[in-house]
Amino acid sequence: MEKIKTLIVGAGASGLTLASKIGNSDVMLVERLDRVGKKLSATGNGQGNVSNEGVGVDKYFTSDTRAYNKIEKMLSRYGKEELIRFFESKGAVLTADERGRIYPAGKQASALTDLLRYDVAQRGVKVCLSTRVSALYRQGDGFLVTTENESGKKSIFAQRVVLCAGGKAAKNFGTDGSAYALAKSLGHSVTALYPSLVQLKTDTEHIKSLKGIRVYSQVKALINGKEVACETGDVIFTDYGVSGDVIFRLSAFVSDKTEGDVTLSIDLLPDISEQKLRDVLQQKSKLTHIPSGEILCGILNNQMGRAVVKRAKSESVNALVDVVKRFKLKVTGTLGYDYAQVTKGGIPLSEVDDELQSKSCKGLYLAGEILDVDGRCGGYNLQWAFTSASVIADALKN
Ligand SMILES: Cc1cc2nc3c(=O)[nH]c(=O)nc-3n(C[C@H](O)[C@H](O)[C@H](O)COP(=O)(O)OP(=O)(O)OC[C@H]3O[C@@H](n4cnc5c(N)ncnc54)[C@H](O)[C@@H]3O)c2cc1C
Repeated sequence: MEKIKTLIVGAGASGLTLASKIGNSDVMLVERLDRVGKKLSATGNGQGNVSNEGVGVDKYFTSDTRAYNKIEKMLSRYGKEELIRFFESKGAVLTADERGRIYPAGKQASALTDLLRYDVAQRGVKVCLSTRVSALYRQGDGFLVTTENESGKKSIFAQRVVLCAGGKAAKNFGTDGSAYALAKSLGHSVTALYPSLVQLKTDTEHIKSLKGIRVYSQVKALINGKEVACETGDVIFTDYGVSGDVIFRLSAFVSDKTEGDVTLSIDLLPDISEQKLRDVLQQKSKLTHIPSGEILCGILNNQMGRAVVKRAKSESVNALVDVVKRFKLKVTGTLGYDYAQVTKGGIPLSEVDDELQSKSCKGLYLAGEILDVDGRCGGYNLQWAFTSASVIADALKN
């Protein structure tokens, strides 16, 4: 039987980072897809938003409030500077855009995958593609690992195993949630899971005529009437609810709460004050040649304007202003894991130590999205993949 010191399950963002940090001929990287880093290459609309100037623990979510301390400690060891230095040491140059989002200068995510792939190869890491780790068993101080590929099943003995196998979001990139079973088989639990950074389903009564309309808005997410997040950007109305960058960003705050009372309050004219709008409409209501129902023509997109008038049920200025500034939609769910960028929830951080080693199964480590940590939109999830893999790299090098 083949024996290996370190077996890494998954050649995604965290697996490639780890292999690049500790790689040698005694490290095996097993990837179920036919290429490494397929998801990494698709990130940030193909541009690779790998981190953010604003990285900090406040940009992350976990279901165990006691775990924030642990995340903070790890981020202080491996934050954005360390990520930039790491990629620069591999040959990339990273730059931040006006919103603080950090990208490779060439704005090509696949180039980062290439640099990691070249590095892993020159280190002599054994890369097994189109091969799935289907079972893990404890054997002595190590692990009996079952892999499966076109040629059939194989057993490998590994002294230590690192699960870098991702979560349940975007299964076309190899992450269908099946890796949680590997952790469970070695004694771990998994929290409730939810899709995040995803489109939101809403009550569609008032948006039926708006499919495909894009409106620059300020959107507040309210849980039980209390504001939990506020973002400004484009909202795209769809037949199931709302999409667009701003909705992705807000979904991180509410995607696990959609069975409760979650509402989006959309300000359709964020750059115009309520008073100014009221004044304009008061003047306009005197223009008798404007047809009934068209009072918002020239102020909002025509279809949007008609939907507002219909919803206000009158052309009273106060009613119209209220709907324009607070166009409310009840959130009823998300579009689901196939459309989500990230999984909320995972293996609890309380089940791993400060080096991300399993407390109950020594020699097993967990990195990246498989853990109960998810970030806001803007580079924070790739930063977490890098941070967690780097922490493990230190532990394995020592
Ligand atoms: C379309 C899209 C765009 C995104 N854009 C951004 C962005 O711009 N910025 C950002 O910060 N985050 C982004 N994300 C999120 C980010 O890509 C993930 O959070 C991050 O890749 C997670 O890293 P990971 O190493 O934990 O898992 P992944 O990168 O998902 O890698 C896991 C790997 O494990 C493999 N695998 C799973 N199970 C097995 C098994 N049993 N055997 C062998 N291999 C297995 C999978 O095939 C996969 O390659 C995006 C996600 C998507 C889907």
